[in-house]
Amino acid sequence: MAHVAYVPEFQTNTVSYHHLLKKDIHWDTQKGILTFEGKLWCQLKDIDDQFVVEYQPVAAFPADSHAPKPDSHGTIERWHQRMGHLHEEAVKKLPQAVHGVILDQSKPLGICEVCRTSQAPQQISRRTPERATQPFQRVHFDLIQLEEGYNHDCWVLHFLDDCARFHFIYTM
Ligand SMILES: [Zn+2]
Repeated sequence: MAHVAYVPEFQTNTVSYHHLLKKDIHWDTQKGILTFEGKLWCQLKDIDDQFVVEYQPVAAFPADSHAPKPDSHGTIERWHQRMGHLHEEAVKKLPQAVHGVILDQSKPLGICEVCRTSQAPQQISRRTPERATQPFQRVHFDLIQLEEGYNHDCWVLHFLDDCARFHFIYTM
């Protein structure tokens, strides 16, 4: 069959009898079978009062488990990452503060590349940029997001000509 969605990972996929009919597959409800060109094509099963083409039992899993979760092991580095790059001293307090945290303190955190990069002081240039001397020699641009307007535009494009200090505003 074409133009159908079949997702094997889903618990249930449905079959359109209408689609089957178009492919000349008929449903013999007395025998509980699908036929093609008058011959047995598929033996249907009756499961939970549903006609089932193919049945694969789902592995049993508790829908509502009250069983406690197993303890979660990890090094300082692992817990630092798990907790969104939490400070090392705070990570060391996790086992007392949170149930189920098993912390391996054998290794210190050391240098975390993510923290090192994100916490590096920002270098801001103090050099005053020279003003452009010709119109459109340098144009500044801002993109500003606003709530959707009456015309469904939600972006403001702002251009500033550095020389003439002329503003151009467009929306989209
Ligand atoms: Zn980090």
